[in-house]
Amino acid sequence: MPYPDSEMQHDKTTFNRHYLCPCGKHTVHTVTDSAGNTQHQILCPICRLTFTVVHIPANRITQGQGLTQKLVRLVPLKDHLQHQKWVQKQQDLQRKVLKRSHQRHLPIFLNVVLSQVQPVDRWMLLGTLAGPPTRSLKAFLTYGSQAQERMIKNHFQLDRLPRILAGLGIEDPELNRMLAELTELSRKIQIRELRFLEKGHCLQSVPAPKPLATLRVR
Ligand SMILES: [Zn+2]
Repeated sequence: MPYPDSEMQHDKTTFNRHYLCPCGKHTVHTVTDSAGNTQHQILCPICRLTFTVVHIPANRITQGQGLTQKLVRLVPLKDHLQHQKWVQKQQDLQRKVLKRSHQRHLPIFLNVVLSQVQPVDRWMLLGTLAGPPTRSLKAFLTYGSQAQERMIKNHFQLDRLPRILAGLGIEDPELNRMLAELTELSRKIQIRELRFLEKGHCLQSVPAPKPLATLRVR
């Protein structure tokens, strides 16, 4: 928690809300602080044993297009733990892939692109090998040789890697195996997150108590 409870009480911009928990008998308490950070707590003694709160990037639904906010769902704890395991494995594997390819293949990539003497040819070859460059040709032409090298190196990224390796004619079965495993992991993670979004319990407001007779008279 960003603030101790005592400080939170004095913060006028803090929002407290209660939502129905999955079993419908108790609530989930959420507190949003002035910085927009929301903490959730499942107050239900039954649901807190089997559910947990997850935040899923909304762009999972739109295939990465727009919608940067995160959606909140209550999902089965065991599904969440499996999801976390996959995400951890994905991160470990990504680090391994980057380490191996930086050691073995980045020098070749740099040599090949920098072997072109004219900056315009370097920029063109970069596009052919790594896909659309992140800087325009016009910008690239204003760079000194060090900045050019840095910019070329920045294109040696995970998502461009399969294309770069194929373009350079590099065969690295171990790396291919890891890349295939990464693809499979991302697929599993994405399917799981979509299921969280579709089947997870949405936070719904607790129905307001029936208005008192005296209030209706007003
Ligand atoms: Zn409950």
